[in-house]
Amino acid sequence: MREFAYTAPATLGQAVEALAHGGSGTRVLAGGTTLYDLMKLGVERPRALVDVRALPELAGFDTSGPDELVFGAGARMADVAEDPVLLRDYPALAESLAKAASPQLRHMATLGGNLLQRTRCPYFRAGPPYPCGKRVPGSGCAARHGPDRSQAVLGTSASCTAAYPGDWAVALLAFDARLDLLGPAGPRTIALSGLHRVPGSTPQYEHTLADGELIVRIRVPVTAAGRGSTYHKVRDRESFAFALASAAAAVALDDRGTVVDCRIALGGLATRPWRVPAAERSLLGSALTGESARRAGEIALTGARPGTHNGFKTELGVRTVAEALRVAAGRWTR
Ligand SMILES: Cc1cc2nc3c(=O)[nH]c(=O)nc-3n(C[C@H](O)[C@H](O)[C@H](O)COP(=O)(O)OP(=O)(O)OC[C@H]3O[C@@H](n4cnc5c(N)ncnc54)[C@H](O)[C@@H]3O)c2cc1C
Ligand code: SF4
Repeated sequence: MREFAYTAPATLGQAVEALAHGGSGTRVLAGGTTLYDLMKLGVERPRALVDVRALPELAGFDTSGPDELVFGAGARMADVAEDPVLLRDYPALAESLAKAASPQLRHMATLGGNLLQRTRCPYFRAGPPYPCGKRVPGSGCAARHGPDRSQAVLGTSASCTAAYPGDWAVALLAFDARLDLLGPAGPRTIALSGLHRVPGSTPQYEHTLADGELIVRIRVPVTAAGRGSTYHKVRDRESFAFALASAAAAVALDDRGTVVDCRIALGGLATRPWRVPAAERSLLGSALTGESARRAGEIALTGARPGTHNGFKTELGVRTVAEALRVAAGRWTR
């Protein structure tokens, strides 16, 4: 049993102060559904936890605004997944939450914690004797020589092929979400697309937050294409499992069925949530057919580099994109 300090600040200001004071050995504690798990595995060894569950500034969400949807980072996944406005106008966002984890976990887990969950690469979680440069920088990568069925095929490097495991960030990426942050250096706003890193030669760095920086809220610009959207997730079992491949797709069509807006992002296939602008552009200005949807899927998977046991992911990814586009277009209403 390793000792750690625990604090539960009453205000956002106190939380930032506690995080700044603790330095790099301090972790934010939200629902705890993955942080505790990683502490038990010895992956995370924080000296202090700052519990943000009681902070009113992080709680709640508002989907009624004319310009943007606003989600507190502390809002529970289950509550947001059941929001009637999301279910009607942004089914991809609601589905990405409803298809993640289990009901019990979704009632504990928060939106902010979901964004920052760490990879499920089995070697990363297992630890010694398996080398893992994400866990111990510079130690190597066991996935290069062992079973790699669940690993990523996009955004990989010689140092790391771990797939980004989350679903919510993938759907948010398709909708150009932004994050309001607060840290020792003050507030700032970043695009969600700037949060997660590809591994390159430093897989231990997974995101761009500074030490002690909190996600306060997530903002999503209102868009008509939300009505024509879906989150299609393929996994080993439907009850609950991480994505082998997933696609968030959103389309808007004009009176003649021509695609006038298109967003596609991939999950389960890449080392970070993966937007595919070239695939989106391939559909703009023409009708969405089975053929053009498949073609968009092929463009989305261009550059895929499978390992030894995950070659199936390339074709699975193509089909996942095509199916997501089919469902999204079928849902579109003006
Ligand atoms: C069995 C199982 C199956 C799962 N399946 C899925 C799945 O299919 N899809 C999916 O998407 N997820 C899945 N998950 C992951 C689950 O969704 C996450 O554990 C959960 O969303 C994390 O939220 P939390 O509030 O519990 O975060 P915590 O565990 O409290 O924190 C997670 C990380 O985020 C940091 N953090 C939390 N909040 C903030 C904040 N506001 N600002 C800065 N840092 C913060 C913490 O410091 C920590 O590093 C699964 C988990 C389990 C255990
Ligand atoms: S793929 Fe990445 S997380 Fe998995 S063992 Fe290799 S370095 Fe570690």
